[in-house]
Amino acid sequence: MSIYTRKEMAMLYDASKCTGCKGCQVACKQWNVLYSDLGMNAFPFSGSYQNPQDLNGSNRLVMTFKEKKSDNQLRPVEWAFGRRSCFHCTNAGCVTVCPTGCLKYEENGVVSVSPEKCIGCRYCEMACPFDVPRYYGDEPKIDKCTMCWDRLENGMLPACVKTCQPGALHFGPRDEMIKLGKERVEFLKSRGYDKAELYGENECGGLHILQVCKFGAEAQGLVKGAQPSPLATLSKLAQPGAGLAAAATVAGLAVSFVAALGYRRRKMTIEEAKEHWTPAQRKRGEEYLREAKKEAAEQERRENAE
Ligand code: SF4
Ligand code: SF4
Ligand code: SF4
Repeated sequence: MSIYTRKEMAMLYDASKCTGCKGCQVACKQWNVLYSDLGMNAFPFSGSYQNPQDLNGSNRLVMTFKEKKSDNQLRPVEWAFGRRSCFHCTNAGCVTVCPTGCLKYEENGVVSVSPEKCIGCRYCEMACPFDVPRYYGDEPKIDKCTMCWDRLENGMLPACVKTCQPGALHFGPRDEMIKLGKERVEFLKSRGYDKAELYGENECGGLHILQVCKFGAEAQGLVKGAQPSPLATLSKLAQPGAGLAAAATVAGLAVSFVAALGYRRRKMTIEEAKEHWTPAQRKRGEEYLREAKKEAAEQERRENAE
């Protein structure tokens, strides 16, 4: 076991050091073999240097480019660079609602993905307050940043961190990353960046990707105080026991699919979600639920007998 997987770790992105070169975005695609299958000139120039505009499964990381008006006559526009990928939440809506354990917490705080366990229900897409997971591939599965789990296991830094030339990305024990982030915020404030702040210390129970926001979190498009979507909480409350997890998840989701916070693209009901399922996914999902209910009933019977 590597040092990077033994204790709680985090990544720190320092927007004040970032040059917006997108080397990290490319390194992520390269290491994780995420080819660009969207064709040449698939994205006509949109007026923004952000490209692609959003996560799409073949991009687990997108550098965001927000323009900010400045009082400086010589530099009237400033960039509020940002980083959009999974935040590896301590209280992760995606993990709460995933009925198969495809998304799960690792000891070091990373939220890992086991694609072979994905049944394509897409509940995680709806439960994530940051609109991160994407259903992707020829045989679609859920895809998101894994914090380069395979690299961490082998004692290597995440590919994006390793490649960043100006030192805008750091990786280490979470408490040290928080300390480093706060020191940097103090430095920025001393230089007149009054709104500088550290994002992620408390959001969703604490994120494992923290950000130093030079112009404040909102300038980077981050939602302050983000929490898991209400449907994830509902699903958790509905769980009477571990064996009932899957059934309770589905029951909770059926009651309400209103996701209130963060980057939600749109509201979706369980019936709408099911429209995206192929017959094979529906069959697997239903089989899984039957098994889960059987297991839960058996567990209840055992508990009553004790
Ligand atoms: S590699 Fe570093 S400097 Fe370049 S965009 Fe990524 S974080 Fe910013
Ligand atoms: S950001 Fe979204 S996908 Fe990532 S751990 Fe949090 S809830 Fe899950
Ligand atoms: S940690 Fe790995 S998977 Fe996540 S954004 Fe960085 S390079 Fe991509």
